[in-house]
Amino acid sequence: MKTTLRTLILAAITASLVTTVSAAPPGKGLGTFKKASTQEEIQKIKKGSRYALVCKECESVTVKEAADDQEAEKLCHDGGTVHCDSCKKKATIKRVGPPGKESITSKITMVNAEGKECMFIVPLSE
Ligand SMILES: [Zn+2]
Repeated sequence: MKTTLRTLILAAITASLVTTVSAAPPGKGLGTFKKASTQEEIQKIKKGSRYALVCKECESVTVKEAADDQEAEKLCHDGGTVHCDSCKKKATIKRVGPPGKESITSKITMVNAEGKECMFIVPLSE
């Protein structure tokens, strides 16, 4: 009987240890982040949010922090421009949505002078 009790206590301790380990928070800032390709996704960037500007022209990633809530608005403003801090090139923001409708699900692309997508935004916070 004594042995059984000890085994039970040991099992209980082991179980609580396992729970503690799995409850530990995951590494901050690590993980996979996906490109924001719609206005809705870009507008999730608020003041203080970090996002990455990926430039295909020079194959660089620039991590930025939104200075204000309006920054996301600028990033999806049709006809606006985005600068790459690395190669200093600029891209024009193109909004493609259903014709005649101000849809929140408008697709946002950043194109170069040739009309090819050359940059994109990756939000780094959920
Ligand atoms: Zn660049």
